[in-house]
Amino acid sequence: MGEYILAEANGRVIPPRDVIFGISGMAKEMAEKVGKDKVINGTVGSLLDDEGNLMILSSVVEVLKTLEPQDFADYAPIGGLPTYQKAVIKEVFGNFIPKGYTRAVATPGGSGAIRNTIVNYSKVGDKVLTSDWFWGPYHTIAQEHGRAITTFTLFDDKGSFNIASFEEKVGELAAAQGKLVILVNSPAHNPTGYTITPREWDSIIEVLDKEAKAGHVITIFVDVAYIDYAGDPLEERKFLQKLDGLNENILTVIGYSMSKGYTLYGMRGGAMVCLSSKEEIADEFKKVCEQSCRGTWSNGTRAAQALLSKVHEEPELLRKIEIEREGFRNTLLARGRAFEEAAKACGIPMVPYDGGFFVSLPMDKPGQVVDELMKEGIFLVPLAKGIRVAVSAVPLEKLPGIPEKIKAAVDRLSAEK
Ligand code: PLP
Repeated sequence: MGEYILAEANGRVIPPRDVIFGISGMAKEMAEKVGKDKVINGTVGSLLDDEGNLMILSSVVEVLKTLEPQDFADYAPIGGLPTYQKAVIKEVFGNFIPKGYTRAVATPGGSGAIRNTIVNYSKVGDKVLTSDWFWGPYHTIAQEHGRAITTFTLFDDKGSFNIASFEEKVGELAAAQGKLVILVNSPAHNPTGYTITPREWDSIIEVLDKEAKAGHVITIFVDVAYIDYAGDPLEERKFLQKLDGLNENILTVIGYSMSKGYTLYGMRGGAMVCLSSKEEIADEFKKVCEQSCRGTWSNGTRAAQALLSKVHEEPELLRKIEIEREGFRNTLLARGRAFEEAAKACGIPMVPYDGGFFVSLPMDKPGQVVDELMKEGIFLVPLAKGIRVAVSAVPLEKLPGIPEKIKAAVDRLSAEK
C-alpha cells in the first residue's frame, strides 16, 4: 500500500504540513507561553501593525458596508461583472491605455489567475519556468495540474537580473516544448522584494522576441500581487508599456490581486488580464479562461467585484483608498529599509530589496539556521536558497535587531562543523 489510504497521489508530493503556517503556529504557541514581546513572527505574508493586528484599509471597509444585498448574494457572471473587468484593466495599467487587445477574466485571487494561465497555455507534462527564488505555491499549482516548475537563476554576481541564465532556460524549454509559460513576479517580488528594472525588462523582451520569431509561443505571466507596495504606483506600472505591441507569438497575462492592494485577502478578488497584438488571441484567452473558471470554482466572489466596480465609478472613493494605502506602503517600505540597513551594518548578505512584504538572505542550510533562531524566539521561513523575513509582519523597532541574530546563528553553525 502506498502513502495514501483512499486518495490518489496523481503525481503529487504533499508535504506533511505547510511550512509557513507550521512555523507561524509554533511562533503563536511560544508567544502564549513566554509573552508576545519575546517572540518575533516574521513568517506571515500579511501586513500587520506594530501590535500584530492585520492592517485593514478603513476606506475599503467603508465602501464594503455600502454594498446592497444583491451585490454579494447573487452569482457573479463566470468571467466577472463587466464593470469589474473594466476596473481591473484600469487597476493594472493605471493611466496607460495599451494599443494592443486586452481582456479581463475574474479569478479567485491572483492564485486563480496563475492556475488558469498554466492550465490554458501549457500541456500536461510541460515545464513552467520561473526564477530560483520563487513563491512556493507556483510549484503546488503546477504540480496539481500535472506540470512541473523549473527555474533560471534570478541574480547574477552583481545582484542584477541574470539575463544569461534566463535566455539559456527560455531557449532550451521553448525548443523542447514549442510553447512555454514563464511566471515573473515583479515589482516587489516574493520572497526577495526585487523589482526588475526597465533595462532588464528590455533584455527580457529581446529574449522573448527572438523565441517568437523562431516560431515558439511564449506566455509571460506577470504576477503584480505587490504592485501597490513597491513605490510610486504610476512609476511601478510603466514597465507594462514595454509589453504592448509585441510579436503575436507572445501573450502577456497579468495576474491581478485585491488581497494586498485592498487588504481583502479573504475576499478572493482577483483577475487575469491579457495583452495581445492580435484580437483573435485576446478573444480566445477570454473563451478558454472562462471555460476554466466554469470547470473549477465556477464564479468569483461578487462582493469583491461589486466593491472594485463602485470604487472605479466614484473617483473620490478611489482617491481616498490610494491616500490611505500610501500610508500603509510607507510603513512597509520603512521596515524594509530598516532591515536592509541593519543587514549592511553587520555584514550579512541580502538579496536586493526594492519593496514589498519580504526580504531574503541567501545562505547554506537555511533550515538549520531557522531552527537555531527559533530557540531565541525568532520565527522565519526557510527557502531552498536562504531564509525569508516577512517585514510586513514585524514591528519597525524589532527589525534592526534581526540581521545580527541571523549572522550569529550562521556563525555558530559554521563553527560547529
Ligand atoms: N503571487 C504572489 C507572489 C503572492 O505572494 C501571492 C499571495 O501571497 C499571490 C500571488 C496571490 O495571492 P491571492 O491569491 O491571495 O491573490
